[in-house]
Amino acid sequence: MSTGGLSFVRRAVEAVRRTPRWQKRIVFFTVGVGTLSYACQDNRVLQINDGTGKKKLVILGTGWAGASFLRNIDTSLYDVHVVSPRNYFMFTPLLPSVTCGTVEARSIVEPIRNIVRKNGGAFRFWEAECYKIDPASKKIHCRSGDGTNVDGNGEFAVDYDYLVVTVGARPNTFNTPGVVENCHFLKEVEDAQKIRKSVMKCFEKAALPNLTEEERKKNVHFVVIGGGPTGVEFAAELHDFVNEDLAKLYPDVKKYVNISVIEAGDHILTMFDKRITHFAEDKFKREGIDLKTNFKVVKVSDKTITMSNPATGEIAVPYGLAVWSTGIGTRPIIMDFMKQVGQANRRVLATDEWLRVHGCEDVYALGDCATITQRKVMEDVDAIFRVADKDNSGTLTVKKIKDVLGDIYVRYPQVELYLKTNQMKGFHDLLKDKESEELNIEELKKALAQVDSQVKLLPATAQVAAQEGAYLADCFNRMNICEESPEGPLRIRGAGRHRFKPFRYRHLGQFAPLGGEQTAAQLPGDWIHVGHSTQWLWYSVYASKQFSWRTRMLVVSDWGRRFIFGRDSSSL
Ligand code: FAD
Ligand code: MG
Repeated sequence: MSTGGLSFVRRAVEAVRRTPRWQKRIVFFTVGVGTLSYACQDNRVLQINDGTGKKKLVILGTGWAGASFLRNIDTSLYDVHVVSPRNYFMFTPLLPSVTCGTVEARSIVEPIRNIVRKNGGAFRFWEAECYKIDPASKKIHCRSGDGTNVDGNGEFAVDYDYLVVTVGARPNTFNTPGVVENCHFLKEVEDAQKIRKSVMKCFEKAALPNLTEEERKKNVHFVVIGGGPTGVEFAAELHDFVNEDLAKLYPDVKKYVNISVIEAGDHILTMFDKRITHFAEDKFKREGIDLKTNFKVVKVSDKTITMSNPATGEIAVPYGLAVWSTGIGTRPIIMDFMKQVGQANRRVLATDEWLRVHGCEDVYALGDCATITQRKVMEDVDAIFRVADKDNSGTLTVKKIKDVLGDIYVRYPQVELYLKTNQMKGFHDLLKDKESEELNIEELKKALAQVDSQVKLLPATAQVAAQEGAYLADCFNRMNICEESPEGPLRIRGAGRHRFKPFRYRHLGQFAPLGGEQTAAQLPGDWIHVGHSTQWLWYSVYASKQFSWRTRMLVVSDWGRRFIFGRDSSSL
């Protein structure tokens, strides 16, 4: 054994001696870098926090909001614990690309431990699902799917000082019978992988001998239920996959393929500008994608989808694969939590603009599982009037009112929007050209009601979730500093006295990939563009938004591979 080892060393030394000088340099460089990186890695071994003296911060979920929070939180300030059923972050905007193999599943996920480690942080992670939040005793109850603790049931409880809830939402079936049993969802990586496999299975089934024409048609009838961005993007991806790759491989099946998009409303992509909606609808019609608007799916069986429309009544269509993508609903754990904090009559968990859950202490909720109730400026109209009307005259000039609003705007996004953009049409019309006129409190109330009517709920998007995560981490990082010098508005402070500026969302625009290397973009400032150039903008934005250089490289190389070799059609 030892002589074998020695002779190996002797042979290796001989080999190096025989190689030319530049080759030796490469060998020494490689070994050197390897040793160095090994040593560095050793120093970055996770320091498990013992929590002494530090407040315990528990985060539920590792999606957009949770990962963004973890990426920004200073882990030296808190004893950080994370509970999530998946130990990775997933880049959802590229999930539809995974369904057809344009991008591989592992290219869009980043282990959560990597994200925190890069941040230089220490934390504990448990791959488990939280099934109950108990705000009264400040505890969460969790269950690990592996069930390997001493009781064998995998259950454990964790107490907290601060709880950050970022558990996202679940697909909404509107209790339509047969959906859960027969439709695919497109929410998790596993969903996309299942769809990819099923698409190929449908093609293989349709190619089998001894089938009737009807059976072949049924097998390759792909139905997408829901004309939102996800459904539309999936339909477009599938259309590209069929036309660019599968048509050549399944020439006999190609003529039977049909892609349908069923939408209950009048149009698809209603959250986009009308020009984009019309462009997408025309493009789909040109390409033979069957767009069924004003159709509501009422039942799904293993063979047919039943939908109804006032004109046609109920019709049942046979299908091979159905993807359900009609929006999101509240998770059961959040519904239970809402009952406990007095929000049972609401549809979504409500927080204030500092992301604190209404009705309990030290619990924050962000991302798709919660929504911010924006404070109405009308609630404070009396205080505003009092502060501005120093001489108690009972009237105020418009200029003075605007000054006061300018002072307090950090508290009300609608006022900020008004002052910055003059977008509040009614308010603006009421006050313009009247700078020196006097208003009494009733007139002021009328004007402010206009401002309040413009308040909109923030959309359930990755953009909102990521910004909320970064904002909240920043608040936690500066908790002590802001305790001493609060940065909230100074002049008008009601009962909701606060330390931080409230959360403000910055909309950076949105994309809708429509297939055929064309993407629609709606950017701030009403900048609308559709076409091939926007597709390149989409590529560069989504490459730059990746959480790490590793996934960035994987995604870009997947795109390159697809350009050169096409998509892989194995039914793996
Ligand atoms: P999620 O990202 O869903 O994360 C929730 C996390 O909580 C997950 O880690 C989950 O495992 C974990 N969790 C769930 N239950 C529990 C529990 N009981 N206990 C503990 N942890 C739990 N938005 C855009 O802005 N642009 C896009 O292009 C875009 N494309 C999309 C495409 C698809 C296919 C989908 C599905 C969504 C897309 N979105 C897009 C929306 C975006 O993904 C969501 O708004 C975003 O993921 C919300 O982030 P979140 O952190 O609230 O929830
Ligand atoms: Mg939200």
